[in-house]
Amino acid sequence: MIEEKLIIIGNGPAGCTAAVYAARAGLKPRMFAGDSPCGLLALTSDVENFPGFPSGISGLDLVMAIQEQAEKFGAETDYDTITSIDFDPVNGHILTAADGRVFKTRALIIATGATPRKLGVPGEDRLWGRGVSACATCDGAFFKDMPVAVAGGGDSAMEEAIFLTRFASHVHLIHRRDTFRASAIMVERARKNEKITFHLNSTVEEICGISEVESVKITDKISGEKSILNVRGFFAALGHVPATTLFKSAGVETDDNGYIKVAADSSATNIPGVFAAGDCMDPRYRQAIIAAGNGAKAALDAEKYLAGE
Ligand code: NDP
Repeated sequence: MIEEKLIIIGNGPAGCTAAVYAARAGLKPRMFAGDSPCGLLALTSDVENFPGFPSGISGLDLVMAIQEQAEKFGAETDYDTITSIDFDPVNGHILTAADGRVFKTRALIIATGATPRKLGVPGEDRLWGRGVSACATCDGAFFKDMPVAVAGGGDSAMEEAIFLTRFASHVHLIHRRDTFRASAIMVERARKNEKITFHLNSTVEEICGISEVESVKITDKISGEKSILNVRGFFAALGHVPATTLFKSAGVETDDNGYIKVAADSSATNIPGVFAAGDCMDPRYRQAIIAAGNGAKAALDAEKYLAGE
C-alpha cells in the first residue's frame, strides 16, 4: 500500500492547476493522468482564449506546461488509471490503479472532466481536431468566411450556431427532431439569423473529407431524401457526459446528469476530504480557464482540510 497526503485524478487544466497549488503547499500530490492524458484540451487545436498567450497555444502544450510547473514543485504525474475506490474519511480513502497498485490517501481531488457526446458516425473521430470540434468558443474563429454545420437541438447548439455566424459564411443547424430542448428564446434568435439554415428531422450520416472536413451527408428522416452540405467545420453540440461513474457508484453525490455536486462557494463533495474541480462538476462554463480556477480552489480546500485534520 502506497500512502499519500493528496491524490488528484485527472490531469487536464483543473487537475494540473490543483497540482501546482498543492505542490507549492508542500503536499507532494500524486496526479493520475488516466485514459486521456491532458484531458479534452489535448484534442483541440490552438487555444486562443487562455489569458497570457496572445499568439495562442496548442491545447496539449498548455496543459503540459501546467503539468511541468506542478512537477517542478514536487507533484508526481502517474500515467495510470484509477479503477476502483473505497471512501474512508477516517482511515484514508483507498484507490486501486489499473496496474494493481493500491493507494491510501487522506485527501482526493476529482478532476476527471467531461467528454463531449459524439454522434458515432463515420469520419467523426478521424477528422476530430481537423474541422470536427465540440467547442465553438475555442475553434469558431478558425472558420472565417467558411460554411460550417452544428448538430444538436439544445441551448448549446443554438448558442454555438449564433456565435459561429460571427465568423462563418453560413451555418447549417442539423437536428434530429422538429422540436427543441433549447429554450424558445434561443431558438427564436437562431431562426431570425439569416446566416443560419435549419435542417430538422435530419440525421448526420457521415462527415466527409480526406485530411480536413469537406462536407457532411445528411438524411431527412421524413422524406428519406439524402443531401450533402459543403462545410469546412462540424460542431457537435450534443451535450456532455461527465466522467464520474466510478465516483458516483462509490458514493459521491451527483446531479441528475452525473455532474458532481459541491457545497456552495467550495469544492467539497459530500464525502469528507474529497473535492471536485473542472468539467466533472461544471455543467455550465466548460472552459479551460474556469477549470484551472476551480482546480486552484480545490487544492486550497484540500490544503485547509489536511491542516485541520
Ligand atoms: P442538451 O442535452 O440540452 O441537448 C443536447 C442535444 O443534442 C439535444 O437536442 C439532443 O437531441 C441532441 N443529441 C444528443 N445525442 C444525439 C445523437 N446521438 N444524435 C443526434 N442528436 C443528439 O445539451 P446542451 O449542451 O445543449 O445543454 C446542456 C445544459 O446546459 C442545458 O441545461 C442547457 O439549457 C444549458 N445551457 C444553457 C445555455 C444558456 O443558458 N445560454 C447555453 C448552453 C447550455 P434530442 O433533443 O432529440 O434529445
